[in-house]
Amino acid sequence: MSAWVQTPVIPGATIGILGSGQLGRMLALAAARLGLKAHIYAPDPGPGFDVAARHTLGAYEDEAALAAFAESVAVVTYEFENVPAQSAAVLAARRAVLPPPPALAATQDRLVEKEFLRGLGIPTAPFLPVDDAGALARAVAQLGRPSILKTRCFGYDGKGQAMVREGADLAAVYRSIGGHPAILEGVVPFAREVSVIAARGLDGSFAAWDVCENEHENHILSLTRAPARIRPETAAAAVAMTQKIMDALAYVGVIAVEMFVVEETEPGVDKEILVVNEIAPRVHNSGHWTIDAAVTSQFEQHVRAICGWPLGSTRRYGEVEMRNLIGEEANRWRDILGDSGAALHLYGKHEARPGRKMGHVTRIVGR
Ligand code: AMP
Repeated sequence: MSAWVQTPVIPGATIGILGSGQLGRMLALAAARLGLKAHIYAPDPGPGFDVAARHTLGAYEDEAALAAFAESVAVVTYEFENVPAQSAAVLAARRAVLPPPPALAATQDRLVEKEFLRGLGIPTAPFLPVDDAGALARAVAQLGRPSILKTRCFGYDGKGQAMVREGADLAAVYRSIGGHPAILEGVVPFAREVSVIAARGLDGSFAAWDVCENEHENHILSLTRAPARIRPETAAAAVAMTQKIMDALAYVGVIAVEMFVVEETEPGVDKEILVVNEIAPRVHNSGHWTIDAAVTSQFEQHVRAICGWPLGSTRRYGEVEMRNLIGEEANRWRDILGDSGAALHLYGKHEARPGRKMGHVTRIVGR
């Protein structure tokens, strides 16, 4: 943290962002609103480059380019969790990297992440490590079918996952995820999926938005609703779990914790149980509604936190719905503009490939 103390970040400074996707773009826009500049470093050009004061096209293995990038900024952050540990180390030797690199280490690998959560006493789906087809057979014997095989690293939007169904050939299932180190998870019979978006400041201060409820189509987030339709005590427990995770990681910045809500309604029992699915050590798609429908957006909050500035209010303006515009859905932009209640965000991506997140729309649907 010493690099941080030597260079307090004040308006006019430049923040460094690894990654040029829409999250990097919205971080750069939020930084600009606060009088900061953004320098984006990424191995591929993306929509972030269009709005950043400066960008560097470079590989994450290019240590000289990473070092020059670090020297040019006041603090380094990232828009995704797959930053290689060695790249984070090169950067952290020169500037504060926030959220801190141990948060990357704890969340890049599903096995490490689940063991970390278990160590904190936070419920997860039952899981076992799977390193070859034989281990898969033993894990399936223990966890049963259906169960879900997930690669330990580099999975997102359902990629690197396969369902182990009744009668499935286990060797073929293992091959279908590329034969990479994996975990097998038991299927959680959830009623809803929710996420907590929260921030922790450099001084340990904490702020969470209301819990969000998420619906997916083809493994991709399609709709977020805030607040989630869960009981107040369940929401409070979800936020408390998130704060516990952030404190354990000495976290600084915005985090997203995705959870399943299981309803237990046997005779004499009526409760909602939370099971953590995964942690994203960054701003998150289910927090996009905060741009238009909360006092402080997740992007502004992240910038405030990594600069060591006070966190803003997370107060919500009403009942909110955020819909992603996936692939060709973004072609409806003109109709959406005609809807006076809709706040449209387009990411400036050139090609509307199927499954690609092209933009989103936020609406306040109730007060
Ligand atoms: P993930 O990539 O881990 O976020 O998983 C993508 C989606 O698959 C989740 O949002 C859930 O809808 C579903 N899913 C993942 N893991 C489980 C599980 N253990 N039980 C039930 N559904 C799951």
